[in-house]
Amino acid sequence: MVDMADFADKFEDPRWKRKRDDLLSRRNYECEDCGELHRDAQVHICYYTKGRKLWEYPDRAYKCYCPRHRIMRQRVEDDLKEILADFSIDELDSLHLALKEFAAIRNGRRERVMEQLYADAKAERSKHDFIYEDEEDEY
Ligand SMILES: [Zn+2]
Repeated sequence: MVDMADFADKFEDPRWKRKRDDLLSRRNYECEDCGELHRDAQVHICYYTKGRKLWEYPDRAYKCYCPRHRIMRQRVEDDLKEILADFSIDELDSLHLALKEFAAIRNGRRERVMEQLYADAKAERSKHDFIYEDEEDEY
């Protein structure tokens, strides 16, 4: 059984506070959903693994949200868990495989978008280099 007082205490641990402050600062207090800056931005931990400390998760397990989107995220995750409660292990296994394929496709798309952005930025930069070279020639 989960002791909620004990769970709340873990958020008082200085190692968690350091991790949380570091994440917020690295992500510039920007909500990952609405993109707005929030002085009261919060770190959401997307999942918990038994035996792992709050500050020991990989970076992708943490999301930075404004208070409103942090609550929305939590509601969706809670709702998903409620829906999953009705699934058998076989059904969960099928869903798990489907989700892994979906994630792979999504990550592949994201990678291609990032490669294109990088190529565009590089092309834009070389265009400017070319302009600067032209300007230098005029002097
Ligand atoms: Zn937001």
